[in-house]
Amino acid sequence: MAIRLYNTKTRAKEDFVPIDPQDVRMYVCGPTVYDRAHIGNARPVVVFDVLYRLLRHEYGAEHVTYARNFTDVDDKINAKAAETGRSIRDITDETIGWYHEDMDALGALRPDHEPRATEYIAPMVAMIEDLIAKGHAYEAEGHVLFAVATDPEYGSLSRRSLDEMRAGARVEVAPYKRDPMDFVLWKPSTGDQPGWHSPWGKGRPGWHIECSAMAGELFGEKFDIHGGGNDLQFPHHENECAQSRCVGHDFAAVWMHNEMLKVDGKKMAKSLGNFFTVADLLAKGIPGEVLRFVLLSTHYGSPMDLTQKAIEDAEKTLRKWWRTIDPGPTVQKLYKQQDTRREVIDALLDDLNSPKAISILHKAANEGNEAGLRAGAAVLGLLNKNFQNWTKMQGVSGLDELKIQQLVEKRDVAKYGKDFALSDSIRDSLIAVGVQIKDTPNGTQWSLTPSFDAAKLAELSDA
Ligand code: AMP
Ligand code: ZN
Repeated sequence: MAIRLYNTKTRAKEDFVPIDPQDVRMYVCGPTVYDRAHIGNARPVVVFDVLYRLLRHEYGAEHVTYARNFTDVDDKINAKAAETGRSIRDITDETIGWYHEDMDALGALRPDHEPRATEYIAPMVAMIEDLIAKGHAYEAEGHVLFAVATDPEYGSLSRRSLDEMRAGARVEVAPYKRDPMDFVLWKPSTGDQPGWHSPWGKGRPGWHIECSAMAGELFGEKFDIHGGGNDLQFPHHENECAQSRCVGHDFAAVWMHNEMLKVDGKKMAKSLGNFFTVADLLAKGIPGEVLRFVLLSTHYGSPMDLTQKAIEDAEKTLRKWWRTIDPGPTVQKLYKQQDTRREVIDALLDDLNSPKAISILHKAANEGNEAGLRAGAAVLGLLNKNFQNWTKMQGVSGLDELKIQQLVEKRDVAKYGKDFALSDSIRDSLIAVGVQIKDTPNGTQWSLTPSFDAAKLAELSDA
């Protein structure tokens, strides 16, 4: 079965056919690095991480290349430098370090390439020169602008017509623009603004050109998948398409956009008190795996709402799943071997249907299908060793599985020796601390009940 992906360019779900199955290439727009990433920024990271894993599974890890950029030249970064008196490099390095910390905590694999815009100024300048030479861009007052009217396909990705755009334009119309929709490829830098020498004087690139130039450098004239949040569809991705098309690049074959995340039904805003960085949520004690689970519980193409209840439900589910796969060192369990992993992959092949994948894992957990749950969850990057132990460290803190196991074995021995007084008393004391035991043809199974109390377990004598 092929991977099927919804392609924004064609507005249809299509079979994914790589340009070269030996070299599958995906580019995702990354963050502008001046501040901690918020939980909305984490949505594309986790969504495209799942796609990256799926592509690696289908085509082989060595045949997939994933690039995600860091925008490290931007007026918001300049403003922060001016405000704090710190250097731009200092701010961007620190922010990139935070980004890695936070996204690692969500279990996202690092992309193969994480190009920084400032390291690709020369290819950007070359692309702008090419656009001018081909008649698609013009210089005006130290700026270089892309002339949208010269691209008959401008608007085709976001399905807007130039006339509509002009009518609804809220862009500030600079006097040097030939058309209000023309956008900046290069702008002059003065004073302590960061700048590079160029044929148009000292200046810096506009935002959109970096992705066209970096994807061109890393991937060549065409590549397979381009992703990002839906808010980038226009103007950022439309402009990327226009620039690359006009220098003769096919650019991305499939365009994917994740829908926006809201918090408690509202767009995140500091003034509403519903703005959370990933670091804020981790600092509240919410494990990264729980956030990853919540982000995958809604299909990437639908708007999603982050609520306290969604977080609590995710935590409950993951605790249960961890218990299912990790019941104690030697406890035998009844496994119903099913190819849950295959079912999870099949769900993802259908335009990354992560909610369906999660429902398959629920079923495996409910059936006590430990092997299936473990293998299926790994496809989603859940229940893996990076996340191991948070269920033990928090809430069910001090869960001393070895002790439970020793008591269970002691009871087994007593029962085998027909010392029913001892075996019953061990069972009763386990029940009293919230550990249930069940005799099955395959041995004794134990599980925690909602009233499990780690402190009481610690007080139990195991002598
Ligand atoms: P930015 O640093 O604002 O360019 O955003 C980095 C990435 O996060 C882009 O792919 C955005 O589309 C995405 N993004 C920003 N806000 C949200 C949100 N609330 N929900 C989902 N994705 C978002
Ligand atoms: Zn981009």
